[in-house]
Amino acid sequence: MSRYQKMSLVSFQKQFSTEEACHDHLFKLKWADGYSCEKCGHNTYFETKTRKHNLYECKKCRYQATVTVGTVMEKTI
Ligand SMILES: [Zn+2]
Repeated sequence: MSRYQKMSLVSFQKQFSTEEACHDHLFKLKWADGYSCEKCGHNTYFETKTRKHNLYECKKCRYQATVTVGTVMEKTI
C-alpha cells in the first residue's frame, strides 16, 4: 500500500492541475484506506464520470457517493 502511495504521489504532483488528478486526490482524502460505502461498508464500486464530478456507486447497495471540492471542504473544515 505504501509503495503504491509513493508512486501515485509523484504522478499526482505532476498532474494535479488536471481535473482527473484533482478527483483522484479528493478520493484519497475521503477514502484514505480505499473506497468504503458510507451506507453498508462495502468496498467495491462503479465509477461514473459526469461533467462536474465523479460518482462512486456501491456495487452492493447502490448508494451513490460524490467526491467534489465542496463536499470535502465542508467535511474537513
Ligand atoms: Zn453500499
